[in-house]
Amino acid sequence: MVRGITPAALAELARTLTATHDVFAPRRCGDRLVLDRLASAGAGELPWNAYRLPEPLKAIWFQPGRILARWPRRDGETAPRPRVLFGAKACDLKAVACLDRVLRDHEFKDPGWCAARESTLVVAGDCTDCAESCFCSMLGDLPYPTGLFDLCLSPAEGGYLVETGSERGERLVADHAGLFSDAAPESVERRADARAELAARVRRQNERFPVRDPFEKSVSKHDRTRIWAELAATCVECNACNMVCPTCHCFLLHDVRAGDAALRLGLWDSCFSAGHARMAGGLTPRLQLTERFRNHYQHKFVAFPRNWGITACSGCGRCIEACMGRIDKRECLHKLETRWIPSEVAQEID
Ligand code: SF4
Ligand code: SF4
Repeated sequence: MVRGITPAALAELARTLTATHDVFAPRRCGDRLVLDRLASAGAGELPWNAYRLPEPLKAIWFQPGRILARWPRRDGETAPRPRVLFGAKACDLKAVACLDRVLRDHEFKDPGWCAARESTLVVAGDCTDCAESCFCSMLGDLPYPTGLFDLCLSPAEGGYLVETGSERGERLVADHAGLFSDAAPESVERRADARAELAARVRRQNERFPVRDPFEKSVSKHDRTRIWAELAATCVECNACNMVCPTCHCFLLHDVRAGDAALRLGLWDSCFSAGHARMAGGLTPRLQLTERFRNHYQHKFVAFPRNWGITACSGCGRCIEACMGRIDKRECLHKLETRWIPSEVAQEID
């Protein structure tokens, strides 16, 4: 059921929730919006992020430097405070679906990820604008959430439409019924129009990268061609693309002392680093940068969909904005699709 809420009532809801939850929401920082923890008092109206925030929201569930083990063990540790996350967009939620596949939905369940997912209430929102780098349309995705949220906000006259996406969301609305109103049917129709319009805009801005073949085909056909040297020519191995990517989830173990205790931490890792796949004997299977560059694409667009049924890219465009080498993933994917020179195979990478 779709309801309505004013910006003041939404701020009141967020402020009330800070009593029982850690509330994360967009905050204005100069001319940008960043994700920040909401102070309990004087929050004011929440700024609306028209598209995804610059940082990946994976940090909410998968913090860099999270404690994976502690010695000596501490019994009776208190459970983390429940959280509320405002400002998630469709591409952020697709990334959560990717990480759920790896960290929750099979025989090995990452306890930290599962606990954080369980205890985080997601208040998502439609995109009402797009960054130049956004390309969810190229992956067949839409710029508004279709699942994995508890509440979803869509701007409407006088405030927002609120759609519930879970029992938890329904309970939240029921517990704060005084803050919500009935939504006018015309507002729901206008929401459909606004959504279609924005989806068309994202498609239009990416028209110069027409997609004819599935990316799995475009990338895998270059298994053994030299195109990767050309695509990676300006890569400086800064790892920024992996750090900002909401679907990247590789981590390495790092042990530290903390007083009398020893902690094992999980630090975010990057497949662009020379040591990423190094084995105990010192052997590394991807010594050359071009091989690591190729692996990045093969993992996201070939191996991940084959293993998990979903592409490990949400088209959020963060890697495009962050790249020190000005490498545009859309251009790379377009070249991978359109370039096929049979003679290149003769010059295989070994
Ligand atoms: S690969 Fe780039 S566009 Fe795709 S999800 Fe990661 S950061 Fe976003
Ligand atoms: S952000 Fe760009 S330069 Fe840095 S590792 Fe990724 S592709 Fe290379």
